[in-house]
Amino acid sequence: METKKEEKIAIYPGSFDPVTKGHIDILERASKMFDKVIIAVLKNSRKKSFLPVADRVELIDKSIKHIENAEVDFFDGLTVEYAKKRNAKFLIRGLRAVSDFEYEMQLSQANMSIAPEIGTVFLITKPKYNFISSGIVKELASYGEDVSKFVPDSVVEYLKKAK
Ligand code: ADP
Repeated sequence: METKKEEKIAIYPGSFDPVTKGHIDILERASKMFDKVIIAVLKNSRKKSFLPVADRVELIDKSIKHIENAEVDFFDGLTVEYAKKRNAKFLIRGLRAVSDFEYEMQLSQANMSIAPEIGTVFLITKPKYNFISSGIVKELASYGEDVSKFVPDSVVEYLKKAK
């Protein structure tokens, strides 16, 4: 019997405002588990944004060149609707602490109830990236602190120019 293998596509959605080394680490690890991973910037998040979506996408694009099966995109509306459009059956989310867990569990269960065919895969952050968030990076950068330990080179350059 011939079985046709379906391509396993995952979406890694988020604000990525800006992308950090913690995000890239999750993406690298997810890319080993799936045939293709699309890191997708949510456009109309209710969070007040720091960088324009186009810049967030460009910074991600420059930081993922080494991951062959990863690509970047943006979307608005419901993540599961975007996933269906891209033929993806998996969502990736990163977990740093128990404080992330409660929100992530609710989100995942809400998605499960509206799109049961799409599953969420959680990856636990490496300890060295545990405390890194886009928010911390914004805060440190606003005081002129060096953030090169926390974000890819493209973001360091961007923030230097933005000063
Ligand atoms: P959102 O607004 O959707 O939470 P973020 O850009 O803050 O978007 O985060 C996107 C995803 O990446 C979330 O699942 C978040 O928990 C995860 N994440 C953020 N920072 C890290 C990190 N340092 N290590 C691992 N996962 C992270």
